[in-house]
Amino acid sequence: MQSGQWKIEACPVAGRWIAGDQWIDVDNPATGETIGRVPALGAAETRLAIDAAEAAMVDWAAQTGKHRAAILRNFFDLMMAHQEELACLLTEEQGKPLAEARGEIAYAASFLEWFGEEAKRLYGDVVPSYASDKRLIVVKQPIGVVGCITPWNFPSAMITRKIGPALAAGCGVVLKPALQTPFSALALARLGEEAGLPAGLFNIVTGRATEIGRELTENPKVRKISFTGSTEVGAKLFAQSAPTIKKLSLELGGNAPFIVFDDADLDAAVQGAIMSKFRNAGQTCVCANRFYVQDGVYDAFIERFAAAAEALVIGDGADKATQVGPLIDQAAVEKVREHVADASAKGAKLVCGGPSDRGGRFYRPTIMRDVDSSMLVANEETFGPLAGVIRFSSEQDVIAQANATPFGLAAYFFARDLGRVWRVAEALETGIVGVNTGIISTELAPFGGVKQSGLGREGSRYGIEDYVEMKYICMGF
Ligand code: ADP
Repeated sequence: MQSGQWKIEACPVAGRWIAGDQWIDVDNPATGETIGRVPALGAAETRLAIDAAEAAMVDWAAQTGKHRAAILRNFFDLMMAHQEELACLLTEEQGKPLAEARGEIAYAASFLEWFGEEAKRLYGDVVPSYASDKRLIVVKQPIGVVGCITPWNFPSAMITRKIGPALAAGCGVVLKPALQTPFSALALARLGEEAGLPAGLFNIVTGRATEIGRELTENPKVRKISFTGSTEVGAKLFAQSAPTIKKLSLELGGNAPFIVFDDADLDAAVQGAIMSKFRNAGQTCVCANRFYVQDGVYDAFIERFAAAAEALVIGDGADKATQVGPLIDQAAVEKVREHVADASAKGAKLVCGGPSDRGGRFYRPTIMRDVDSSMLVANEETFGPLAGVIRFSSEQDVIAQANATPFGLAAYFFARDLGRVWRVAEALETGIVGVNTGIISTELAPFGGVKQSGLGREGSRYGIEDYVEMKYICMGF
């Protein structure tokens, strides 16, 4: 491991690295060992950080987009120069296999590169006028201080996906990272400083989530909240933000259907299912959660899917051979157990997997067949390495089942018939659809959900719009 120097036990608040008199331990999910600690800060430090972000963004917003782009490009370059150490740190505090962690660092850095470039393209408009002595102009301006709250499953990428557009647009930021994975966040702040971000512009507050969240949402100086996490907490932040009328970006829970039609390329479907389900041990918000497989290929798909799942190597993410790491904590393991037990009790059969001999927070890639819509696994996001496979016969029926959920983040399906591909892609009520692929995330495309999966889109040319306000200038002469 090369991550030692990156375990920074202090937070950047108002241009200084501060600690406190209380601490929160951080552990390694593969071993359960404590790997370091971070300050347990609260409302007072959050307020200081907000004031600093507001002050620092005055000069930052006045700079050219090209200037901000150059600094974000430095930030990107520094992340890539330190990719290996950052990946080791990420694996140590989060658990994912090193190869995935390296991929996440590159993915995280890509948002800094992309939105830096977008800083140069924050175009306004000249609107054809209604009067010959007036000109109508629209300009885009930074929305103001942004409060970001991020989860543990992508400790680096979920941060840059928010601070990238915020900083590019000219905003100041106060970030509260997840308690389980704060070191990846703090490492980013150090690199941002080195890249040339002005003091006080990018603040991080680790500590008491409820208290920090309350200050971020209730403080009128914060003009926008960008949150990725559970629907329950997202709804709370939404309500808390109402009195000060903040703009919100919410990237919340999903319950992604993964549909395999009779005409699918089965090998591609199996490969897509493995990537979509078992990446990050099933702990991504776009992980396939409900598998629907058509009658004609039901048995064949399950057989091949199980063979591929059983071949996956479980272990400490730091070991080179590991393909599936531990879950984040014991509660996550319990949720998988509960979903397996519930499905078994209601008639589903275990095809492969189950608890791991390694114990701790490990759970084997698990597949169950004869699953139906009465089971927890079909209704709640398991957020773990469990695939419940449901049988279906008609296209209409599977679309109805896929849409029968309050969530709408991602959906996947495998089919070859062109008419069916269009019909199903258009009928699925989600913000993202993967057709003949299990991997959809890229900084180039808009990521986000419909229904209770969220508000707004991250990444792509649309992503920066959530961090600006339009101003209409009516100029008479
Ligand atoms: P997860 O199940 O991924 O941990 P959460 O929604 O609980 O999802 O957590 C996502 C982020 O929200 C984390 O940074 C967590 O600390 C933070 N969080 C949890 N509860 C609150 C709250 N009441 N106010 C503000 N942030 C919160």
